[in-house]
Amino acid sequence: MSLSFDPDTLPLPVGHFIGGDLLPAEPVIDILRPSDGRPQTGCPLAGADLVDRAVNTAKAALKSSNWAGLRPRERTRILQAWADLMETEAATLAKIEALSSSRPVGQLVAGDIAVTAEQIRFFAEFADKEGSDLVPTDDRSLGMIMTEPYGVVGAIVPWNVPISTAGWKLGPALAAGNAVVLKPSEQTPFSVVHMARLAVKAGVPAGLINIVLGDGQTTGSAITGHPGIAKVSFTGSSRAGAAIAGHIAATGIKPMTLELGGKSPQIVFADADLPRAADAIAASILANAGQGCVAGTRLILQDGIAGPLVEAVAARMERVRPGPTWDETSCYPPIISEVQISRIDGIVQAAIAHGAECVIGGGRMDCAGYFYKPTILANVSPRSPALLEEIFGPVLTVQTFTEEEEALALADHPTYGLAAGVFTSDLSRAVRMSRLIQAGTIWVNRYSRSRDHILPTGGYKQSGLGKDLGREAYLANRKSKSVLIGL
Ligand code: NAD
Repeated sequence: MSLSFDPDTLPLPVGHFIGGDLLPAEPVIDILRPSDGRPQTGCPLAGADLVDRAVNTAKAALKSSNWAGLRPRERTRILQAWADLMETEAATLAKIEALSSSRPVGQLVAGDIAVTAEQIRFFAEFADKEGSDLVPTDDRSLGMIMTEPYGVVGAIVPWNVPISTAGWKLGPALAAGNAVVLKPSEQTPFSVVHMARLAVKAGVPAGLINIVLGDGQTTGSAITGHPGIAKVSFTGSSRAGAAIAGHIAATGIKPMTLELGGKSPQIVFADADLPRAADAIAASILANAGQGCVAGTRLILQDGIAGPLVEAVAARMERVRPGPTWDETSCYPPIISEVQISRIDGIVQAAIAHGAECVIGGGRMDCAGYFYKPTILANVSPRSPALLEEIFGPVLTVQTFTEEEEALALADHPTYGLAAGVFTSDLSRAVRMSRLIQAGTIWVNRYSRSRDHILPTGGYKQSGLGKDLGREAYLANRKSKSVLIGL
């Protein structure tokens, strides 16, 4: 069966999803399809009243379904049925996502959706395995650390991998016994609505997953400031993360998890397997056209190998051919919007104007839609935004070093610390670098996530607070209570 589809005739679930019902709503926020720049159905805008309704619905559903009080294995079974249905219905889900996002439809079915289903199953398995602890006390007492769900979790996710990031929030929150009110990005609103519909169809009690559509200012802040939201789980830019932290501080302190931006380095030593490093570097920056939080955008190369390695990476990057996300053969996707591609080009052109050498790329592709040429910049000024800011596009910078300490100093970003890559054949050096680099994830001789969902993801510095994935993400959805019984 072909996954390619006609973007003008694809049916979309246009509305909020509350209490198991799709509430049709007028499109308010314009959306232009990234693959051809043409308008599609816009995004509705939930105000504070609708967010309030979603929160109250979630609370009522928790009570009527006794979700937190079910035999834990029953939660596991229901969530796994949802994961199964996502895979069965992957084609429909992928098409809705591919229409307005930068994710190619073919990659969604084999990648994002399959992996998200697997992650939901992974979290579902925690429900009957992570429990409370009995703790050592004297023999006249019984001490326990009990854990329990928060209640209603508020989740907000970005546009770059909407299904994946929604799964990272919904999986652990539901497995841990919570209900969720989630807002996807206003640029990619509808796939997550469909994902929630599938959950209800698979047996997740109606009202446990509520999707409200809208922007950050109106809908997002109504979620983060709502007194009925017991915990906030956010993925997005560091700028929005800071605004959310401030809003939560002002409206009533509550726990929050923030998965934010990055400007991650990839350090290559002269003893590395260079073809392998070139493959990993090119694949990591071409994935989603650089629109990935962990994109390894800063190449830090040991003297002597910089020339040949940049040449090898450039050859791989130049091979890409753009294609619309609704064509299943497309591999190299567009940038999400005109605003974002203009920002990318602005940073690149400013760097070149200040003396950077443009090794390849450096401009828009000559085709419809928002496609940007894979770009490599060398000799970038240390104060250039190209080296300091998250570009969120297919742009690599190149810096060189002689000694290990110099590489570490270059890798150390003043504000970000999300991920880093080290390529070397020296095991001791690999371990030393892994210990010293200040980032939440270190990849050695590779630069990509694996399907080992037990490894948490999250940032140091302003790249975040708390973790998604792993046991930590499950535990972050339960609060602990100390109980001491006098015997
Ligand atoms: P963004 O911060 O602009 O928006 C993210 C989400 O937050 C959207 O749903 C938006 O509507 C909402 N939002 C924005 N301001 C808000 C506010 N004040 N209150 C409440 N909600 C608000 O980010 P984006 O442009 O959609 O996504 C790209 C960013 O996401 C990049 O910085 C990227 O690094 C980051 N990201 C991080 C991870 C991670 O795991 N660390 C994963 C994916 C993306």
